[in-house]
Amino acid sequence: MKLFNIHTHRLNIPNSLFNAERDINSLSPNQYFSIGLHPWYLYDKWEEKWSEFRNYVTNQNCLAIGEAGFDRLRGPKLSIQKAAFEEQVNTAKIEGIPLILHCVKGHDLLLEYLKNTSSHPQIIWHGWNLKTHLAEQLLPFAVSFSFGEKILDSKSNASQWLKNCPKDRIFFETDNSEEEIDQIYQAASLILGLSVEDLQRQVIQNWNRISSKKLK
Ligand SMILES: [Zn+2]
Repeated sequence: MKLFNIHTHRLNIPNSLFNAERDINSLSPNQYFSIGLHPWYLYDKWEEKWSEFRNYVTNQNCLAIGEAGFDRLRGPKLSIQKAAFEEQVNTAKIEGIPLILHCVKGHDLLLEYLKNTSSHPQIIWHGWNLKTHLAEQLLPFAVSFSFGEKILDSKSNASQWLKNCPKDRIFFETDNSEEEIDQIYQAASLILGLSVEDLQRQVIQNWNRISSKKLK
């Protein structure tokens, strides 16, 4: 069984969503990918880069926008980060596909966006590892959570939230870690007391609920 991996920077792993940022031309024909401007790499002419990337969005294998978002520790000033986020989140909304969110010290910025926007696309906060009360503040909105290597530590914030998170809001990822996606599902299986098969089924169902581009 190929377990669905919602976010990885490793190229050409079956059944995974590759974060395509620079390697867009090395993708194998069946590789699912997301495309976006990471807040770390918002250079002067990010608008030009985005209009180039925008052409890939209608590709049938482009399942999501991202990773995109906010980072107070790295990247350009917040006004640029916000403008680039706005642009990308609008594309996600138009296409009916989720945006994979990178968010470091920017929970308030996301919340501000969500509260001031009448309709926003589905957002998947990737690599969630914040405290439970911060996750709960996002539940009134169309926000899901993707869990990665942090759940290998049963005492992490990620593990705590996974236990309490509504099941229809969960996804799993390897991001840029060396772990295999099977290990992440195994850890989640122990935390939740559900089989890996059940989790895989749940994740596919979750995806198909929030995206216009369905998985089989
Ligand atoms: Zn990443």
